[in-house]
Amino acid sequence: MKFTIITLFPNLIQTNINESIVKRAVEKKLIDVEILNLRDFSTLNNQQIDDYQYGGGAGMVIMVEPVVKAIESCKTKDSLVLLTSPQGITLNQCIAKEYSKNFKHIIIICGHYEGFDERVLDYVDFEISIGDYILTGGELPALILVDSITRLINGVIKEDSHINDSFENNLLDHPVYTKPLDFRGKKVPDVLISGHHAKVKDYRNKQRLKNTYNKRPDLINYDTLSIDDIKYLKELKDSKGEN
Ligand code: SAM
Repeated sequence: MKFTIITLFPNLIQTNINESIVKRAVEKKLIDVEILNLRDFSTLNNQQIDDYQYGGGAGMVIMVEPVVKAIESCKTKDSLVLLTSPQGITLNQCIAKEYSKNFKHIIIICGHYEGFDERVLDYVDFEISIGDYILTGGELPALILVDSITRLINGVIKEDSHINDSFENNLLDHPVYTKPLDFRGKKVPDVLISGHHAKVKDYRNKQRLKNTYNKRPDLINYDTLSIDDIKYLKELKDSKGEN
């Protein structure tokens, strides 16, 4: 998988991809991250890429021409072109999974200031948002896209590590514990140190249901649950989430 990130702040991207799991994925050649400086595609003196908006109003607008030139410099028939924007579809685990499986090259364009000249939209496949709030620029959204997609690419992390992650099968993850066994009187649940794999599995499954029921009931999709899961949810409901 190759990511090309078009940005006015290449260092913001570079610093982040030089760390942690994304760095390891680059080193293992499971992903490649190319960073293009939007200013290199300016058609004006002094690398100008923005200008005042027609009709007046505060805030500069990123011009269409440098963005289109940057896209055209790297786009192939396999590319998906994403424009970071608070007005886009909201990123979620399903979208991250789809992108990780179905695309070989993802171009991510980072905005700034007041955003982009509207005509940029003719050259992108989707506008993508990371949530209903406004950031100063598209670099953090771009890094979030790279991170959430990269960890789902085969070989980047162990499959075991993400198959039970929150949002898989419309459930949240179960709680996890590590040493010490007893912290100020609060003990690790006995079943987790019983060595009984079937019981641990059953306990964790119930904890995923309970976590989701208590924290994000909107996620629960009865079509994907077993009869036993549905019975347990009913018990939870009867006990007001305490069971
Ligand atoms: N005026 C724009 C609006 O209200 O729709 C917001 C522009 S914002 C200050 C500047 C840039 O930050 C955007 O062009 C986009 O690249 C990025 N950005 C800000 N919030 C975002 C979000 N929630 N998701 C994705 N990108 C975002």
